[in-house]
Amino acid sequence: MRIGFVGLGNMGLPMATNLFNGFKNEADFIIYDINQTTTSNFLKDHNTDANNKDKVKVAKSPLEVAKEATVIVTMLPASQHVESVYFGKDGLLEGLGENHLVVDASTIDQSMATRVAKVLQEKGAKAVDAPVSGGTGGAQAGTLTFMVGSRSTEDFDVAKPYLEKMGKNIVYCGTNGNGQVAKICNNMLLGISMIATSETMNLGVRMGMDPKLLAGILNTSSGRCWSSEVYNPCPGVLENSAATRGYTGGFGMPLMAKDLRLAVNAAVDTKSTVMLGALAQQLYNQMAANKEFEHLDFSAAYKWLAENSK
Ligand code: NAD
Repeated sequence: MRIGFVGLGNMGLPMATNLFNGFKNEADFIIYDINQTTTSNFLKDHNTDANNKDKVKVAKSPLEVAKEATVIVTMLPASQHVESVYFGKDGLLEGLGENHLVVDASTIDQSMATRVAKVLQEKGAKAVDAPVSGGTGGAQAGTLTFMVGSRSTEDFDVAKPYLEKMGKNIVYCGTNGNGQVAKICNNMLLGISMIATSETMNLGVRMGMDPKLLAGILNTSSGRCWSSEVYNPCPGVLENSAATRGYTGGFGMPLMAKDLRLAVNAAVDTKSTVMLGALAQQLYNQMAANKEFEHLDFSAAYKWLAENSK
């Protein structure tokens, strides 16, 4: 068996590492990313067996991945990257058939996820959308939550053993595209709660409160949320947070802006009212378009508010 992985970025690299470690006795690997530094690093770290130099191969195109691997995971930034990897020239689609299981773990819009599934299923392949929650820490620890959309629970059962090597909670969300529905809703709430936590921490600090003390009180009171407790945006509150390491790594600002855009577009399509979601989208758009903030983690909302409070 050969397993393929496409998109080895902040999330994909640790996920591919866990998948590799989980199946290294049963499967060989083939990887592809337009960024050759990340594929070379993966190769260097995982192709050390002198007797089996082909354990990990770097493909020249997604098509090569589809030709060589029967199980393929993709972890790409947004819908347009998924479209190009699956349907573009030398894309996955040209090489797929009935022996393939394809898992797209990227966060994309529901309609692209259902289109991918439909086209792949017409070729006989099993296709599931399985976006994740848990951040880069969860990807490294193999504790991600996978929100899985699939045509049937049988397809879900086929995908599950692979997802279990990368995650702790593998949740069936219903038909293809429903994984994205769950993920988009979760991230709208996360985007809003991160801004709310940032506003709260900034206000408390400016009123003279010690940030660690304030966070501790919030986290034993009714204001507690994931953004205040696990991913506090104020530097120094948590030892290993993105905020404490200068907002580097983690979940990039353009990705959160994209997820809020997905939520607002879905709200327009379904005539749903999302006032706070729309406000949050505007703020992340501003930050993602700013040279100083575009490469920072989304929790730099705190830094943005602090700098705009003077
Ligand atoms: P990233 O930008 O760090 O990584 C994306 C990778 O895809 C990069 O290595 C890039 O070179 C590669 N890529 C882009 N276009 C490609 C193409 N055409 N062919 C092959 N490779 C290509 O992004 P990430 O943070 O790893 O996020 C990936 C997905 O996971 C996004 O949809 C994001 O919304 C979602 N997500 C991210 C986090 C997080 O904390 N970073 C958490 C949950 C979900």
